Amino acid sequence: MHIQNITLHRIELRFKTPYATSFGVHVTRQLILAEVQADGLTGWGEWAGDGPGYSYETVDAAWLILHSHLLPMLHGATLTHPNEVAARLAAVRGYPFAKAMLEAAIWDIAAQQAGQSLSRFIGGTRANVVAGVSVGIQPDPAATVARVQSLLRYPGIGRVKLKIKPGHDLAHVAALRHALRREWPDLPLMVDANAAYTLADLDTLRRLDAHNLLMIEQPLAADDWLDHAELQRHLRSPICLDESITSLAQAKAALALGACRVVNIKPGRVGGLSAAIAIHDFCHAAGIPVWCGGMFETGIGRALNLALASLPGFTLPGDFTPAQRLFGRDLIDPPIEANADGTLPVPSDVGLGVRVRIGD
Ligand code: MG
Repeated sequence: MHIQNITLHRIELRFKTPYATSFGVHVTRQLILAEVQADGLTGWGEWAGDGPGYSYETVDAAWLILHSHLLPMLHGATLTHPNEVAARLAAVRGYPFAKAMLEAAIWDIAAQQAGQSLSRFIGGTRANVVAGVSVGIQPDPAATVARVQSLLRYPGIGRVKLKIKPGHDLAHVAALRHALRREWPDLPLMVDANAAYTLADLDTLRRLDAHNLLMIEQPLAADDWLDHAELQRHLRSPICLDESITSLAQAKAALALGACRVVNIKPGRVGGLSAAIAIHDFCHAAGIPVWCGGMFETGIGRALNLALASLPGFTLPGDFTPAQRLFGRDLIDPPIEANADGTLPVPSDVGLGVRVRIGD
């Protein structure tokens, strides 16, 4: 594959409902799209980073590093497989979301050249995947319950994930658990702290643990490996790591230390689909369940995530809320719609399997 041209598009989408995490309130989503031309074909990738609370890689930082360093490394390159992209870009440390975007577009082209859907091309085994909902931090427990009830009007929701932070945790989880027990007794509930706690909060985390949670996601700081391992020894609920796992090496370290029992895989956070697949393969062989996290992607990033989540080790529901529910519109036409049972179809057309339409 000979890379002829790379065009970047910068886009801002406004959330229909602002979304709060322990990092702050998100009103808009800033994103970058890469449009790559190679061998007469076009591939697309989406930059799925966030603000500086999640990672240093803000949209402005990514835009700068892409233009000044990453694009010149790929322009005119000849590749035999998308797995080679990471090594080509290795002279730039970090910036995994920017690298993942470029690699995604090249995976799209490679799958098109093979005449296969991306899912089939990477060995996916599922045609449909189960999705959960993710609920931002609400001002009070009653608002949390109301928000979840409004999201559960959609069928087939596989689990509810509640964002928490100190002071917005136990009462919210207790109220929600009470409401779910009445109306949706079998629906799994999990929490995501986005690294907002320390071991000094052990008492709170133990009391959360008593609410029969599917998992507690990223309770401690990203590099708190030993504290996560210590905390896991005190909890019944599995700890899931998100921000901590930025490479296969870190997934190996986390498992060796007993720092988690579940891994959240996001292609952008780990630097690309190749690394995401490698982490999946390692966890699958180790018997550790994985799931595909979301970064409020449009249909372009979502299509890639759905292909990833079609691999056999993705046994837990992922974050796949369709973009039109988040933003009132999508950047693909037609948008990815949930099936009648609430599952999401893995795109089956060649490549990413979606038609990009950036304009309104
Ligand atoms: Mg998370």
